[in-house]
Amino acid sequence: MCTLLKVSLINILKLKFKNSTSRQPPVPVTHLSPVINPATGQNPQLPQRQRSKRLVPILLILLVLLFCLVLIRKNTQTAKAPTLNVNRSQYSVNDPSSIWVVVNKGRVLPSDFIPADLAVPNVALRLPSSDPEMQLRKTAATALEQMFSAANQQNVHLMLASGYRSYGEQVSVYSGFVGTQGVQSTDASSAKPGYSEHQLGLAADVEPTDRNCETDPCFAATPEGQWVAANSYKYGFIIRYPKDKQNLTGYEYEPWHLRFVGSALAMQLHGNGQTMEQFFGLPVYADYPANPYQLKIGQ
Ligand SMILES: [Zn+2]
Repeated sequence: MCTLLKVSLINILKLKFKNSTSRQPPVPVTHLSPVINPATGQNPQLPQRQRSKRLVPILLILLVLLFCLVLIRKNTQTAKAPTLNVNRSQYSVNDPSSIWVVVNKGRVLPSDFIPADLAVPNVALRLPSSDPEMQLRKTAATALEQMFSAANQQNVHLMLASGYRSYGEQVSVYSGFVGTQGVQSTDASSAKPGYSEHQLGLAADVEPTDRNCETDPCFAATPEGQWVAANSYKYGFIIRYPKDKQNLTGYEYEPWHLRFVGSALAMQLHGNGQTMEQFFGLPVYADYPANPYQLKIGQ
């Protein structure tokens, strides 16, 4: 852009300069009139007005160069903006108790895995606090409290719709969906028992307190959905199944399904738009493979 500006400006100025000199032909040089006055360093043949006119294009060119320098400096600063470089091996992706464990259609949890530190977050709940589904692992529960509190301060009111679901609970959830929707439709939106992030106690389905667009893609367009999309990463949550990434996650868009991964990784994934599978270089499964990877404690 700067080059174009400069070329255009120089052409305009050349034309202007040519016109101005054609209007005022140079004073003929004679042996009686010295070109430069040694005392003043100026050409007495050029009137003061003409000398000032010649300064105008130079000043304009300097202004353009200054403008370009500011632009270049700004671009350089953008490129140098600090980027997070999370160490991919800081936590295990294969241990069910790790906050970075990756569960998908090709990576299955032990049926008896139960998180050790489940707690009920002090937030608006869809079900009674005695229901196990209203629990999350302690760190995720605390983060959810902080996130909902921040949302409340901005007049956005969120509720926990579903948190921890045991293997047994997922058996009834999955079979219930299969009964009403069939296997194919269910597999696009709900996990088989053992393949659900909800068994980790690190996944939270959230919704507006008025339950508008409950577990529906229209949640994304609500003020609550927009707030969650813009702010949840600050509290360590990611939208695990983003829009138009079914080929990378195995699931349809779920703007309500948040996965706690801690603030550093959430910030990284929010910043670069990657899924967990992309970031950790793990294979993606569109369907359940015959021999899934078995996640184990201690791996
Ligand atoms: Zn969910």
